[in-house]
Amino acid sequence: MNEALKQNLLDLDAAGLRRFFEEQGEKPFRARQLLRWVHHSGEGEFARMSDIAKPLREKLGRLARIEAPRIVGDTLAADGTRKWLLKVDAGNAVEAVFIPEMNRATLCVSSQAGCVLDCAFCSTGRQGFNRNLSTAEIIGQLWLARRLVETRITNVVMMGMGEPLLNLDHLIPALRLMLDDNAYGLSRRRVTVSTAGVVPQMDRLRDECPVALAVSLHAPNDELRDRLVPVNRKYPLRELIAACNRYLEKAPRDFITFEYVMLDGVNDADAQARELVQLASRIRCKFNLIPFNPFPGSGFERSSDERIRGFAGILQRAGLTVTVRKTRGDDIAAACGQLAGDVADRTRRSRARVPIKEIHA
Ligand code: SAH
Repeated sequence: MNEALKQNLLDLDAAGLRRFFEEQGEKPFRARQLLRWVHHSGEGEFARMSDIAKPLREKLGRLARIEAPRIVGDTLAADGTRKWLLKVDAGNAVEAVFIPEMNRATLCVSSQAGCVLDCAFCSTGRQGFNRNLSTAEIIGQLWLARRLVETRITNVVMMGMGEPLLNLDHLIPALRLMLDDNAYGLSRRRVTVSTAGVVPQMDRLRDECPVALAVSLHAPNDELRDRLVPVNRKYPLRELIAACNRYLEKAPRDFITFEYVMLDGVNDADAQARELVQLASRIRCKFNLIPFNPFPGSGFERSSDERIRGFAGILQRAGLTVTVRKTRGDDIAAACGQLAGDVADRTRRSRARVPIKEIHA
């Protein structure tokens, strides 16, 4: 069979694999065996799956393949952060980032080649959008990373390129593999999906595969959020907060994490922190302040450390839990909002922008 026509087993979660084996007239318990070989042991060759009889291994070789994206770049930052550039097709490459810390090691995974949401301060948005990643391309990032690093990966964050909730059909099987004891066996609390606030899909994730949720808030009111996170024009804060509250009914954690990028002179004033305290009174949440990571031509600057401390202090004195995200891997453009990969833009998004400060002036 033509390679490309073979079923890529990385595209299938446990249920999908069971169906695959049944369709081939094989016993469904083979699914568990395969899951353990492919995801638990990181095996990529049928020939080495020693407890599967040879005729079945050969049949699998004819019908199926185990194919992750191809690594075309591998960069190590001074702080141990490692970024891979992964080619997903002739025109597109995405990035995955490994972030080792004292007590955990996190993989930041991409969900799309590019992004349609066009948040004002994000370099992925500047690349335009090409397509959704397949389940194999999403889980393939974890599959590859696990084979390449010594440290056990304890956490996954869907915070790479793209809006994961706009690719739920492919994301959900990938999440199920992350959670499956026969695959990666991560707890729901250690898998985080981050969204700019696509409300209907927040409900779908809640119903089909609730994991920890982070929401990219970035502004305390609709007027500013409309400009920074344009999807807010479709799903304003009132609807977003309501969706967060619905999500909490099934979430593995009893709070939503609000990400808030600190942009000098844009969203970092004391008055905005106080407005945020008001907003936060409507939902159980924690705040993760992200110092803005610059990229060429962004038009924004990072708030000073002193300003970030002042802003955090107002939230904390109101009783909120606040962390400031440590900037990791910025020397290799692996920090939040710096992932650009290599996207063949199909949106022809205009690169001519009015800097946000001028809009407000
Ligand atoms: N689309 C999803 C997943 C991306 S997660 C989402 O918006 O949540 C990436 C996180 O980094 C988001 O919170 C995003 O808003 C933030 N981010 C984007 N650009 C950034 C930048 N230049 N500096 C710091 N954080 C940025």
